[in-house]
Amino acid sequence: MKPIRVVIVGGGFAAVQFAKTLRSKLRASECEILLFNRENHMVFHPLLADVAGASINADAAATPLRQMLPGVGCRTERVQRIDLPSSEIEFDDGTGVLQRLQFDHVVIACGAESNLGIIPGMAEHAFPFKVMRDATDLRQHIVRQMEQAEAAGDPVLQHRHLSFIVVGAGFSGVEVAGEINELVRSSTRFYHNFKREDVVVTLVHSQDHILPEVAPTLGEFARKKMEEAGISILLNTRAVAATGEGIELNNGKMVTGSTVVCTIGTAVSPLVQHLDVPKERGRIRTAPEMRIEGQTNAWAIGDCALIVNSFDNKPSAPTGQFAERQGRQAALNLVRLLRGEPTKPFRFKALGQLCSIGGYSAVAEMFGMQVSGFLAWFLWRGVYLFKLPTWSRRIKVALDWAWDLLFPRDLGFLNTDSAQQVFHAYYRPGDFVQRQGEPARFFSVIEEGEVEILKAVDSDSEPKVIAVLGKGDFFGEAALLGNRPHETSIRARTVVRLRQAGSALFSQIAGTLTPFREILSKAVLHRSGDLWQRIPLTKSLLEREPLASLLDPLPAQLLHKDTSLPDAIRALKESHTGELLILDEAQRLWGTFDRNDLDQIVARIAVIPPDQQGDITQRKLSEFLVVNPVYVALDDSALMAATTMLDHDSSWLPVVQSKDNPQPVGFLRREKILDRMIERIGQQQAKHAQVAG
Ligand SMILES: Cc1cc2nc3c(=O)[nH]c(=O)nc-3n(C[C@H](O)[C@H](O)[C@H](O)COP(=O)(O)OP(=O)(O)OC[C@H]3O[C@@H](n4cnc5c(N)ncnc54)[C@H](O)[C@@H]3O)c2cc1C
Repeated sequence: MKPIRVVIVGGGFAAVQFAKTLRSKLRASECEILLFNRENHMVFHPLLADVAGASINADAAATPLRQMLPGVGCRTERVQRIDLPSSEIEFDDGTGVLQRLQFDHVVIACGAESNLGIIPGMAEHAFPFKVMRDATDLRQHIVRQMEQAEAAGDPVLQHRHLSFIVVGAGFSGVEVAGEINELVRSSTRFYHNFKREDVVVTLVHSQDHILPEVAPTLGEFARKKMEEAGISILLNTRAVAATGEGIELNNGKMVTGSTVVCTIGTAVSPLVQHLDVPKERGRIRTAPEMRIEGQTNAWAIGDCALIVNSFDNKPSAPTGQFAERQGRQAALNLVRLLRGEPTKPFRFKALGQLCSIGGYSAVAEMFGMQVSGFLAWFLWRGVYLFKLPTWSRRIKVALDWAWDLLFPRDLGFLNTDSAQQVFHAYYRPGDFVQRQGEPARFFSVIEEGEVEILKAVDSDSEPKVIAVLGKGDFFGEAALLGNRPHETSIRARTVVRLRQAGSALFSQIAGTLTPFREILSKAVLHRSGDLWQRIPLTKSLLEREPLASLLDPLPAQLLHKDTSLPDAIRALKESHTGELLILDEAQRLWGTFDRNDLDQIVARIAVIPPDQQGDITQRKLSEFLVVNPVYVALDDSALMAATTMLDHDSSWLPVVQSKDNPQPVGFLRREKILDRMIERIGQQQAKHAQVAG
């Protein structure tokens, strides 16, 4: 008889236990087991903090699945979709082609994902802490910060390099904060330019005690011990934003630091998100035996599932302990089902909790007993050594730990060159992206928001806003191309998201891509109040001219986001000036529309395949335009407005009431500004002639 095929999606605690148990119960002739995991190894999460803190090597906490699971077909592929009605999975075979595979039973054990999107700026500036790559990247970064602190001449910069922030004081936050503290403080003796006392590790937690998972006395013990070790713990405090400088707290204060680790925020895996089955808070609801509610051949276990524990009738905790037991008991239930025997509900009495807090100390709750300090730390190491999946890993970890007791932690790191990389960055209104006089490191493109360009005439004078840049605009090119410090500062005017390329990467692209080079040369020519510097009379006149005096009234016809493409084109045809504004529901400026946009619209339609173009006459104008137009506010200076026009090679700009209230109040036109300048120059000359006469 043909063996049945069981497909397991995932390769974590739950999936591995399921595969091991099933293989031990059913022969290969009875059952083919295929396990699909994104990586070819299983990550032992409780040791991730040790990897980040360099007390063990990464390979000790990652066990290759095929060596751990003989008799199981291990595939390193991401499953894209599970088609439950036709009992098939869809996966990318590595060539970009989607393959389908039939199953008799499927087990979904794909865990949860980290989600830094819950706090603005975290995705751009913080390290997540979930997969092995997160831990190894963090370790590299920490050592790089120490190297940079050693080299930093500026004490403020050195303080930033030596300040480490961990958000969330659950198990993983406490463990990683303890490990960072241990690694950095114990390594200061190898550096000459900073001391133990210069290191700052801050743990930010939203509740009034850390480690809410354990008894309050243990949480309190952990807090005191960590504070004694030099970690500063901020309770009842939430991070509300992260930037390149550090994190902003809900009390308005800023904690600076160039390392932020975010251990809060989980998201449902996209695979589960797209699955049409009953869910609760994103997790798949199962029957007590762990088959998905309403399904006959689909099971869900581990962090992605919501399984009620019949021991206490509560939903199982999303921990490795529960995931392993679910994997084992679900496999036994599948065997029972295949043999026609009744299945059993999931039942498990949690064994306890263990958390290492650094400095050879831990807290533990085991079999109803509470232990803390060195004994708990010894227990912690013993339990996790025993729980590692293979003997080879146990020996590796034991050797690493023994090494760590005898020798200093390894400070070697791969010096990946940031000049070759692409980054994302997030800034709050008022944050500086670059400062005049700083060396140029990045070429930046604005993905969202607006920035102001500021320039100070000399080091003693106040910088003045000389132009505004918006979505799709770029900056940093002049200093990089000229290999000189920035001649202007850039400050976020709204929330800003940037895509940044390191200097070397920028030079390579600028050197090889001719159209890009041409755009850059044009920008360098137009940009930076330099042009006005060279015509000092006009510059000083523009600085004095009130913007309101240059305003043209709004046109009679204003477009709306929902205006159809044909109506918008008709309005443009009837407009005297050929410049129209588009408003949103709250009558705020949403976009602009002029004759240049028509070419872009045609180009955009041309790239849509003919069968998907639909009825063009029914399409909305907003589908074809880039939003976030550049504008100036009534309280901006005429000099800034004129420079912004030059920067954007534009002959007109919309003017809004204020930055906080972007309701359009009029237009600014290049010819009107120039006409006014000529008028003012004439008036000045007449005055001079009168004085001379
Ligand atoms: C830093 C940290 C420390 C922790 N410490 C502890 C601890 O001390 N004790 C404890 O009990 N628990 C701990 N946990 C929690 C524990 O790790 C999780 O509860 C456990 O890993 C859940 O197991 P799982 O099998 O459901 O998912 P995971 O172990 O997350 O495994 C899911 C696997 O599925 C793979 N996958 C996802 N989507 C797909 C797809 N579409 N195709 C193919 N593969 C896919 C992933 O790559 C991953 O390998 C910790 C977690 C973290 C992050």
